[in-house]
Amino acid sequence: MRIDRTRLAASMEALGRVGETPRGGLTRLALSDEDRRGRDLLVGWMREAGLTVTVDQMGNVFGLRAGSDALPPVLMGSHADSVPTGGKYDGQLGVLCALEVLRTLAERGARPRHPVGMVIFTNEEGARFQPAMIGSGVLAGKIPLEDAYNARDRDGKRLGDELERIGYLGPEPCIPRPARAYLELHIEQGPILEEEGLPVGVVEGIVAIAWSRLTLTGVQDHAGPTPMRIRHDALVAAAEVVRAVREIPRRVGGDMVATVGRLDVSPNIPNAIPGRVSLSVDFRDPDEAAITRALGMLDRIVKGAARREGVTAELEHYWRVPRTNFDPGVVDAVERAVRALGCGHRRILSGAGHDAQYMAAICPTGMVFVPSRAGRSHCEEEFTALDDIEHGANTLLLAAAELAGASV
Ligand SMILES: [Zn+2]
Repeated sequence: MRIDRTRLAASMEALGRVGETPRGGLTRLALSDEDRRGRDLLVGWMREAGLTVTVDQMGNVFGLRAGSDALPPVLMGSHADSVPTGGKYDGQLGVLCALEVLRTLAERGARPRHPVGMVIFTNEEGARFQPAMIGSGVLAGKIPLEDAYNARDRDGKRLGDELERIGYLGPEPCIPRPARAYLELHIEQGPILEEEGLPVGVVEGIVAIAWSRLTLTGVQDHAGPTPMRIRHDALVAAAEVVRAVREIPRRVGGDMVATVGRLDVSPNIPNAIPGRVSLSVDFRDPDEAAITRALGMLDRIVKGAARREGVTAELEHYWRVPRTNFDPGVVDAVERAVRALGCGHRRILSGAGHDAQYMAAICPTGMVFVPSRAGRSHCEEEFTALDDIEHGANTLLLAAAELAGASV
């Protein structure tokens, strides 16, 4: 049994037109009119494929195909929202490959023991409403429903109101539900599979993540009359921290990445010495202990930089997500599937968060990665070749069928 690549490609093209940018990318922010149109299109296709469609209180859309026995379902899914001027692969590829697997099962009349279904999660990107992965977060019981409803976008619009406005505030309780397994196909968003010429990544888990925020307070003063010898410049201390953070992964060794992505300078004008700077630090590593070492280094770096410039520093390590290890049984099923197809693959860790991270807390979970051209994502240049997509989708098909108890 194999998926139909022509049908999959046609669906990718049709869905990709909803929110398409002039340069061939995608802007389909969560709960926008484009999101509604994309969801409507998908729901229509899901019904045509014979799925029973339900919507939960967070607007997560489920489509189920009954099994031969009354057992918990094998779910496949991802998200259909995008970042602004993002690409047509992140998220929607996972949703469309899940749909293609279900279309294939329907066409063949395959009736595994477990029901097999798909889910479209609400607001995975966190581009419009924070936090990211809010739909799966509520489903997994990690984010209270009321907090999610009260999340507001930049214009002050409430997530709960926007769900209702686009017609996706469903009646089904958004609570952990039993599942045999959750499988998510996603683009790698990194360069490894492409560099190694492999079409499929068997994802073993998601790296540990730690976020810190630093506020440096110096003395705001005039850029002209203030001699250099009496300055306490918060931005100069921040620059030292930014440079030193860049060196931490090399000092720690292994696969750590470290990023200062946000810098707020006050007053941020040409003729004043910056009195206050705040910045963010993001560390990711497969190994928890490495992150702990990095946070210790950051403490010492900040102390030294603040002392040299005569500024005060407030450093807060405020968010830490442990490494997510996917279920060994599901990971093995994905690997057996890709072996059966006879195509190149490797085991890999995800450096980015996904809905699978929350799903792993409530059911056995695994992921399938396909390559990203030049490792790029969250941009209009995001691209994955159809040959690779076909291998990934067939891996998803065989793994889901095995987990659902089908003979393929
Ligand atoms: Zn994604």
